[in-house]
Amino acid sequence: MAKSIDVSDVNIYYGDFLAVEGVNMTIRAKSVTAFIGPSGCGKSTVLRSLNRMHEVIPGARVEGKIVVDGQDLYAPEVDPVAVRRQVGMVFQRPNPFPTMSIYENVISGLRLNSKRMNKSTADGVVEKSLRGANLWNEVKDRLNKPGAGLSGGQQQRLCIARAIAVQPDVLLMDEPCSALDPISTSAIEDLIHELKSDYTIVIVTHNMQQAARVSDETGFFNLKATGEPGRLVEFNPTKKMFSNPDESATEAYISGRFG
Ligand code: ADP
Repeated sequence: MAKSIDVSDVNIYYGDFLAVEGVNMTIRAKSVTAFIGPSGCGKSTVLRSLNRMHEVIPGARVEGKIVVDGQDLYAPEVDPVAVRRQVGMVFQRPNPFPTMSIYENVISGLRLNSKRMNKSTADGVVEKSLRGANLWNEVKDRLNKPGAGLSGGQQQRLCIARAIAVQPDVLLMDEPCSALDPISTSAIEDLIHELKSDYTIVIVTHNMQQAARVSDETGFFNLKATGEPGRLVEFNPTKKMFSNPDESATEAYISGRFG
């Protein structure tokens, strides 16, 4: 089930360095939210705070509240591993496990989470996930071949299949198309559009046209100067953001006068 995410008063540190300050937003369920803004303003840092990936860096921490389905992800009793299952992630460079087959790649998250699964259940999950990632028809006759043998765009869809196989509520995508050619990019954008009927999706993109094409809502992040913390300047429906933003800094950024 797709879930909304409530972010309140979030500050994010790398050691003593306050990288992002005072983030408040509500990410709607079953919608696509894009994070845009100049490099270094904290988009990826905020994204990684949404599934507790940020804190795997030594000294890194998050202050504030991030609530999914009534549960603060940072409450002391919450297991970060369970959070990462609930909130899946797809990275900039497709990263299938190179020595594993396509089949094993898709099922790998489930094998970790539940040791025993019979063959027909596993087959069902693999087919459903690959269909969900619009990859089934291209790979159904070579499921036992290595994932590394696929094209970049296919590998990225394989990573999306792997992420959805564990049935997360939320999918985070950190510049998922930046290593892909335009045709593969377009396939991923179509897929994002389809996936939002089942998942809450948050995507970081440096490509404003992509944000405008795929997202329902957009967050614009910015920072005053290097060394200053990044801030969420504006969060609005994408249509409004790109036609009539509330903030002059957003207007300057999207019109290309800055960043
Ligand atoms: P964006 O995604 O908008 O380009 P990032 O979230 O990557 O921005 O970075 C935000 C700030 O945090 C930058 O100042 C960056 O240098 C810093 N930062 C990012 N990753 C690390 C890290 N692993 N250790 C220390 N500082 C980091």
